[in-house]
Amino acid sequence: MELNIHLPTLLLLSVVINLMVGGLLWLVYRLRDLQACFRLWALACVTFVAGIVLAVARSVVDAPLVTELAAHLCLGLSPWLVLAGIHNLLGVPLAGGKKSSRVLVVCAVVYVAGLLVSYAGDTLVPRLLTALWSALVFTVAIYRLASSSRTPRLPFRILQTIFGIHGILMMLQVLVIITSRWELVGLDVNAVLTLILAHHLLLATATVMALPLLAFTQAERNLKLLAERDELTQLLNRRAFLQQGRAAFNQAREQQQGLTVLMIDLDYFKQINDRWGHEVGDSVLSFVATIMAEELRDSDIIGRIGGEEFAAVLNTGSCKEVEAVTERLLRKIAGRGRWVEGRPLNLSASIGGVVISPQTHSFNDMMRSADAAMYEAKDKGRNRVEFAPVSG
Ligand code: GH3
Ligand code: MG
Ligand code: MG
Repeated sequence: MELNIHLPTLLLLSVVINLMVGGLLWLVYRLRDLQACFRLWALACVTFVAGIVLAVARSVVDAPLVTELAAHLCLGLSPWLVLAGIHNLLGVPLAGGKKSSRVLVVCAVVYVAGLLVSYAGDTLVPRLLTALWSALVFTVAIYRLASSSRTPRLPFRILQTIFGIHGILMMLQVLVIITSRWELVGLDVNAVLTLILAHHLLLATATVMALPLLAFTQAERNLKLLAERDELTQLLNRRAFLQQGRAAFNQAREQQQGLTVLMIDLDYFKQINDRWGHEVGDSVLSFVATIMAEELRDSDIIGRIGGEEFAAVLNTGSCKEVEAVTERLLRKIAGRGRWVEGRPLNLSASIGGVVISPQTHSFNDMMRSADAAMYEAKDKGRNRVEFAPVSG
């Protein structure tokens, strides 16, 4: 069966879709506080279209400076702008000190120099260079997306897959060009290259359509972080802590597992503010948050629920384990808090704890019991832990 690709139709479609998506990306750039990645991606669409239009002009004008050199520069610039947009979105500078960035810059210089030398001669050489360059940019993009720990991963995987197929296709193009040059296999080179071009156009279009998905999921993630986190300590804020704590309580109840709530209040914190100022007080709060994050497990829920009040939900009901954790917390806060930023603060905290029991009615009950135990620790002289006898 002969595969008939009507190239002019495909090119026209690709131009129209890229212009439409490019226009949409530009609009999003104007509407969304001028987030630069959208502008870069819009420009990637425009340069891609410009590259196609200039390349098509080969059949009517004989001006290799425009139809070869400028066309290839545009087609080479397009994936680079996509990569720059991804960097901007992830907040990593493209020209960072990484080795891969230096390799990319050197390759860009070699690519442009190669085009300058070859554009007036054999048309296959610029195609070979652009294919190699694009494959390299796609490889770097896959690597950068893989090294980001951002979630959700699905848009990352979609883009990585598209870039991966695109990179393979570009290398296939390189292989076809090389084999045709030395006539290694009897290929209908133009037919194969047309087929590759068809896939290339489809993939380029798929890329620009997948990019907004990545940007929107990242924007949502940032908003969620803003809504859930306390700005100073980056711990969960009160609302998010209570929400996650209730969910953990329900789960522990259902699966009959252990659960502990801790309430941690800094001792005489007002005096630190009064003596050293609010800024020092703020540093102390961040400092305590760091200790808590270090000492508790990733699966534990930690929040700043008031001014100098922290709380934690540990997914264990073992008194021994909880006592060990709280003792360690007190020791670390008092030890490292003796001096903070060169000031003798003699920091300490009082902790109240409660372990879930069959009589416990709700998470709010546990919070109340832990709070009462914390006040008992204050009454008994501070810098200590008290446990509620039975929650309920
Ligand atoms: P106690 O040992 O009884 O807990 O005494 P305390 O001084 O720690 O408790 P108190 O409730 O009297 O004072 C808490 C202080 O925490 C008062 C308030 O100015 C301070 N505070 C609350 N939020 C912040 C904040 O975000 N930054 C700073 N620097 N201080 C804060
Ligand atoms: Mg206090
Ligand atoms: Mg307090």
